[in-house]
Amino acid sequence: MSGIYIHIPFCKQACHYCDFHFSTSMKKKDDMVLALAKEIAMRKNEFSTEMVETIYFGGGTPSVLTNDEIKFLISEVYKNYSVVENPEITLEANPDDLSTERILELSKSPINRLSIGIQSFYEEDLKMMNRAHNSEEAINCLTEATKYFDNISLDLIYGIPGLTDEMWRKNIETALSFGIPHISSYALTVEPKTALRKLIDTGKIAEPEDEVASNHFMILVETLQKNGFIHYELSNFGKENYFSKNNSAYWLGKKYIGIGPSAHSYNGEKRGWNVANNSLYLKSIQNDELPIETETLTISDRYNEYIMTGLRTIWGVSLERIETEFGVEYLDYLTNQSQKFLDDDLLFIENNIIKPTAKGKFLTDGIASDLFYLNLE
Ligand code: SF4
Repeated sequence: MSGIYIHIPFCKQACHYCDFHFSTSMKKKDDMVLALAKEIAMRKNEFSTEMVETIYFGGGTPSVLTNDEIKFLISEVYKNYSVVENPEITLEANPDDLSTERILELSKSPINRLSIGIQSFYEEDLKMMNRAHNSEEAINCLTEATKYFDNISLDLIYGIPGLTDEMWRKNIETALSFGIPHISSYALTVEPKTALRKLIDTGKIAEPEDEVASNHFMILVETLQKNGFIHYELSNFGKENYFSKNNSAYWLGKKYIGIGPSAHSYNGEKRGWNVANNSLYLKSIQNDELPIETETLTISDRYNEYIMTGLRTIWGVSLERIETEFGVEYLDYLTNQSQKFLDDDLLFIENNIIKPTAKGKFLTDGIASDLFYLNLE
């Protein structure tokens, strides 16, 4: 049970808030597709006993690839790996790439799940974030995509300066009006060295406020739950049977191979990451060398990852698993560290599983880092 992630490191333009790895020059796109195919083949032995359940095209903007390029990469996966009968194959796509013709073509390809980067239906938000699409394209692509795909996810960003609670409610309602079964939603965060950081520092854009983001998060959770969505991960909401299999596999600690520049991999013991530079990646693959660095996870690393993903998901953190997998020392540590959050009604324990309360959810990442096991190895 495992997945293959393929990183497509190109975007038409740079969104102001983004710190993912991508290039806005498409000059090396053809070489990149060949190199990705080669890496897929080079790494087949890593999954000699695994069945591939999910294939995920992420980025960057995978929809800048042609359908033939996408189909070629999928066929390379099939050629080199054992794939289950109905794998989930997701394409992240931006609305400006999803014309009616393109959607129709994609619906005839092996892609069976679209993850669409809508972010907002307001023109001013899209401009402020420097998205490549406009609000009309967002609406049109969803109107068309829902005719041909049933498994669709869309991304929405909250906490945008100027986005009032009312506007945010309207954004969610517009998303819901398309009947899509999955929504991923993230707070606008200001990463160092991004254009957004600069625009804020020079006073051109207001700094996003935590309190606004926290209110938006509460509105989001309440509205989506009322509409039959299950809040299965902090930033992810799905109708029953529509949870992202690819992402759930990460959170449940399954193995995955990350193909392409900056892609990460995990084999149960080691974590790996490819070089985040298109030229260096191409050169290395062309020289038959994998451009990957790896580290073996210590017991503390694995405990910390379990705390983080457990608290972020509906599966929670099992105290029994902590004891059997990590030992009584870790269980005592967790019990002590979590006491103040239990007292403050930010965490609760049910059936020997720790989860955040409704009040604690928005603070999950901070709580998790307070439960991390540090400096003991
Ligand atoms: S399209 Fe996605 S990956 Fe590309 S710049 Fe925008 S947010 Fe980043």
